[in-house]
Amino acid sequence: MTSVVQLNPPSWARTDDLDRIRPPLDSSLVQAIGIDIGGTKIAGALVDDDGRILRSERRPTPAGDATAIVDDTVAIVRSLAGEGAIPPVGVVVPGFLDADREQVYYAPNISFREVPLRALLVERLPGVAITIDNDANAAGWAEHRYGVGRGAGDMVLLTIGTGVGGAVVVDDRLLRGGFGVAGEIGHMRLVPDGLPCGCGQRGCVEQYGSGRALLRVAGEIADAGGIGVALAAARQADGALDATNVGRLLVEQDPGALAALRRLGERLGETCASIGAVLDPRLFVFGGGVAAAGELLLEPIRESFRAHVPARGFHPEPEFVIAELVNDAGVVGAADLARTLGL
Ligand SMILES: [Zn+2]
Repeated sequence: MTSVVQLNPPSWARTDDLDRIRPPLDSSLVQAIGIDIGGTKIAGALVDDDGRILRSERRPTPAGDATAIVDDTVAIVRSLAGEGAIPPVGVVVPGFLDADREQVYYAPNISFREVPLRALLVERLPGVAITIDNDANAAGWAEHRYGVGRGAGDMVLLTIGTGVGGAVVVDDRLLRGGFGVAGEIGHMRLVPDGLPCGCGQRGCVEQYGSGRALLRVAGEIADAGGIGVALAAARQADGALDATNVGRLLVEQDPGALAALRRLGERLGETCASIGAVLDPRLFVFGGGVAAAGELLLEPIRESFRAHVPARGFHPEPEFVIAELVNDAGVVGAADLARTLGL
């Protein structure tokens, strides 16, 4: 477990933010179970109120079979709880939920369509406090409570994985919106009439700022020759550009791979400038696989933010940092959402 308690106030924290870091609501609720249902695996953990993982378990996701997913989720919960009473359970999914957090409208990777997930779980786990939420919300919440966003009352998390996920914390609360689907940063329109997106629209941030976009841009640079020569050679040798060979070229500081990452960062910085105009966060946190690039990604993001922010040159600059909890953010956040009901 990588949870780190920061002893000194982070630079972006306001003093009143620090005063508002909440203790657990009820000292009897010190443990909770977090379940993160992903496209390939269901991860579960028993988590204490310091964000530490006490026990964990995972199974492959029976994607496409909602009943089997619920069965496996219940089995993991029972296994993690052991012989004792089952503590509060938070279950998160990669999809859109309704405002009451009862139903999953749409989760493309696990084939959930209008699944009344909370009711299905309550039926199988009677008497247990169950909360469901979006996986990016849980990751953002985990960073806010236990990770790099601890002490930042206003922060935005962008997860740069295959797609782009988002979570928004305003005044120490997750922003859910009027219909429950706020924070879908990946589907903000960045390019009018741009590339088609899985959501049915065009020009979404996800098409320009995701891991998939990085590979597409790397392919374009390979096609153009010049600095793309090593990318072209890797594509030739491996049959395709993927996270592994592009990642290796980034580590080797190949100019073509660096240029592709820079292009991604520029688009993300532009996105953050727009987000800043509405939400004015003090902190932007980047998670997901591509965030492993660290400063190589953050540097173009900062430059592009400066170039695109309204009142350029006269706007205080937020911090741009890499997420801290990475692999555990989903389960840790899910557990804490169950414990605090996502206040
Ligand atoms: Zn979209």
